[in-house]
Amino acid sequence: MNVLVINAGSSSLKYQLIDMDTQAVMAKGLCERIGIEGSCLKHTPAGRDAVVITSPMKDHSDAITMVIDALVDKDHGVIADMSAIDAVGHRVVHGGEYFNQSVIVDDDVKKKIDECSMLAPLHNPANLIGIEACQKAMPGVPMVAVFDTAFHQTMPAEAYMYALPYEYYEKYKIRKYGFHGTSHYYVANRCAALIGKPIEELRIITLHLGNGSSITAVNKGKSVDTSMGFTPLAGVPMGTRSGVIDPAIVTFLMEKEGLSIAEADAMLNKKSGVFGISGLSSDFRDLENGSKEGNAKCKLALDMFEYSVKRYIGYYAAAMGGVDAIVFTAGVGENSIALRERILSNMEFMGIACDSEKNDVKGKEVEITKDGAKVRTFVIPTNEELTIALDTKKLLAK
Ligand code: ADP
Repeated sequence: MNVLVINAGSSSLKYQLIDMDTQAVMAKGLCERIGIEGSCLKHTPAGRDAVVITSPMKDHSDAITMVIDALVDKDHGVIADMSAIDAVGHRVVHGGEYFNQSVIVDDDVKKKIDECSMLAPLHNPANLIGIEACQKAMPGVPMVAVFDTAFHQTMPAEAYMYALPYEYYEKYKIRKYGFHGTSHYYVANRCAALIGKPIEELRIITLHLGNGSSITAVNKGKSVDTSMGFTPLAGVPMGTRSGVIDPAIVTFLMEKEGLSIAEADAMLNKKSGVFGISGLSSDFRDLENGSKEGNAKCKLALDMFEYSVKRYIGYYAAAMGGVDAIVFTAGVGENSIALRERILSNMEFMGIACDSEKNDVKGKEVEITKDGAKVRTFVIPTNEELTIALDTKKLLAK
């Protein structure tokens, strides 16, 4: 069985074709600048060089047609024809309170994804366009929707409610949803497999630290709290997002600086985080380099990020009555050796300590626990595409 995994953004579309018998990626790629001048497709068949195909894509339907053409192409294709695509798994950002697991797409599911656009106005409409473009290009091929929010639907009300007038929850569904659910689910389950215990016996804190970062408390396999909130702006400071701040700062600055709603939104989402503090970059590699060269603002940005992550470890250990394992994943979590070491420093009082030699690793699945430390620590590269494909396969087998 081959599953095509699609992650559609407003002007981009990422894909992977996965052979579910071997779980191998047969090809992957990215369409960029959909609907804008200069659209192109970068297609990489497994084990071969990438090809870049430049051709106008006026919409996502054009993009999907180009993806299928690339997959069946006689030179750089990996399948004989379209009938070798058995199902499509779509990443959908927001499932609201409707979806606590992945579902086969039908008209009712599409209607609900559309309703959730109010909660994710930048993402859900694009995800829906991706689904419809695939339905048009591949009639009869089953589609599955996998939601970023679904894994967090197990949070208890005391974790997901905000202490605002209750009517806003009823009227606008204002509550914590959390994101990166597919990633937290995948790495928590890999962690349990590596420990060799059922996940139902473990309290795991998963640290998805990338350009966007979120931290989740996974108690007995269920998300019981997570750092992102109503939107991905909450939690730790990120590349360009502020993370949690005193909400009164927003209205204060809107008044003092005369910011419009759109300007305040852009300030919090695009100009803040480690970029806002350093004034230099949102990329943690640049901050590490800057900090080494003595740039005090780069160092401050890293210090703030690390302190914030540390706080969540304490917070979620308290939420679960202890912690058995900690997992680092995503771009920063998988690759930044120094940052992991600093986050895990001075945590012996909780039974947390990492081994510098074992921690000297990038992008590999490995345990980094110091001998004798009670809490097991791991680096586990995330694999959201495989998780989406596995869910797709599982649903279609039913
Ligand atoms: P996204 O949230 O966009 O999916 P990723 O999980 O791919 O992001 O993470 C991207 C981030 O990972 C980059 O901004 C970069 O700061 C960070 N990163 C990648 N490699 C390294 C590295 N070797 N050291 C530190 N940070 C790294």
